[in-house]
Amino acid sequence: MVFMPDNTLDESQLERLKEVLLKRRVDILATSTGTRPLPASADVNSRQGDLADQASGTNEVHIQLKLKQTDAKILQATEEALQRMERGIYGICRDCGEVIAPARLEAIPWTRVCIECKQKQSA
Ligand SMILES: [Zn+2]
Repeated sequence: MVFMPDNTLDESQLERLKEVLLKRRVDILATSTGTRPLPASADVNSRQGDLADQASGTNEVHIQLKLKQTDAKILQATEEALQRMERGIYGICRDCGEVIAPARLEAIPWTRVCIECKQKQSA
């Protein structure tokens, strides 16, 4: 029987988080490649449209771009997390090398750093 401290993930938690990560990756890939909601004629027509229409159209595009950037970041972090699982170092903080709390991994399975380092980053 191997001694497992309370603050590390056990096998079944790891399996579950791996599934969450894999599903997240599929979801992001599906949304980023499956839908292209921008009409091709938008650029031509908006020049003739009234200002209100132009403004809201620009905002929508802007929001979509922002979402895509966030998705891309999460996707990359998700890939990295899966690689760390393969190497058996998943759940270790990239910055300080300490174990990341399981509760944090459950909330954000693709996180790279522990809560202390995260707080230092944003401080
Ligand atoms: Zn840390």
